[in-house]
Amino acid sequence: MTKPVLVVDELKKHFAVRRGFLGPPDQVLAVDGVSFAICEGETLGLVGESGCGKSTVGRAILRLIEPTSGSIRVAGQDITRLSNRAMRPFRRELQIIFQDPFSSLNPRMTAGDIVGEPLHAHHLASGKALRERVAQLFDRVGLSRAQMKNYPHQFSGGQRQRIGIARALALHPRLIVCDEPVSALDVSIQAQVINLLMDLQRDLKLSYLFISHNLAVVEHISHRIAVMYLGRIVEIAAKETIFTRPGHPYTEALLSAIPVPDPAIRDTTPALQGDVPSPVRPPPGCHFHTRCPIAVARCKAETPPLREIAPGQQVACHLR
Ligand code: SF4
Repeated sequence: MTKPVLVVDELKKHFAVRRGFLGPPDQVLAVDGVSFAICEGETLGLVGESGCGKSTVGRAILRLIEPTSGSIRVAGQDITRLSNRAMRPFRRELQIIFQDPFSSLNPRMTAGDIVGEPLHAHHLASGKALRERVAQLFDRVGLSRAQMKNYPHQFSGGQRQRIGIARALALHPRLIVCDEPVSALDVSIQAQVINLLMDLQRDLKLSYLFISHNLAVVEHISHRIAVMYLGRIVEIAAKETIFTRPGHPYTEALLSAIPVPDPAIRDTTPALQGDVPSPVRPPPGCHFHTRCPIAVARCKAETPPLREIAPGQQVACHLR
C-alpha cells in the first residue's frame, strides 16, 4: 500500500432531534469519533448493523452532510470546512455509488446523459468528445454503446448499478464511497458488480470505502475492515485477521451470523441478541455492553479506547 488518499480523524456527526415543544433537543450521536485512513489502491470495508452510522460516515466524507467536528483530509489537504466553491475540485476526486441505483438515477434522462452529466457540469467535455467519453465509460463497465439512449427503467438492477459506477468514474476520482452498492441485487449479480469494482481498482488505482451491513459481502473486496457499532469503530484490522482472529465480541457475533455452507461445521459463538440501542441515548461506557455476552461491571462505566492488540489490529474492548 502507498500513501493515504483519505485520512479521517475523530469525525463526529451529531443531529439535534426535538421530541416535543418543550425542553432542549436531544442529540443523535450518529458518528461519535471515528478515525481511519485509506491508501491509494486500497479498499476499506466499513461494516455494521443498520443504524450504526456507517452511511453517515460516507456522506460526511463527501461533505454531503456537514461534520460536527473532527477532520477529513484528502491527499494531504484538510477539506473539513472548505466552502462549496473551494470544495469543487475535491468533488471530482470523491465520488459515491448508492445502494439503490434506480432511485439515484433520474428516470427522465437517458443513461448516456446521466453518465455524461458530471463531465458537462464540470465543463470537461461537450458535443462529440462528451459522447465519445461516455461511450468509453459504457465499454469500461460492460454496457453496450447502444444502451446509451435507453432510460433507467429499461435496464436490469445490475445494469443500473453499472450506470451508477460509470457516472462515478466519469471525473477520474481517487476515492469512491460505495454505500451498500450490491445490497439490492441478486447474489449472482452481486459477484459480477464486485468483480467489476475490483477490476476498475486494479486498472485505475482507485481507493474504495465499501460500506455494507454484511461482513460476507465485504470479504472478497476489502483489504482491511473496520467494524462499527453505534457511531464508533470497535475493531479495525486486515481482512484475514478479522475472519481468522477477530478481537471484538461484536465482530465475533457478526461472523457467527454468516451462514456456513457445511452443516458439519458448527459455530459455538452465541448469536447476537436484540437490536442496536437508540443512538439518541446510547448505553454508557462500552455501547455494546447491553448485548455483549462477556460484559463485566467496568463495561457499563468506562468507554474502552481503540488500542492495538496485535500488529495492525485495533480493538475497543476492556477484556482484549
Ligand atoms: Fe463486551 Fe465489555 Fe468488551 Fe464492551 S468492553 S465488548 S461490553 S467485554
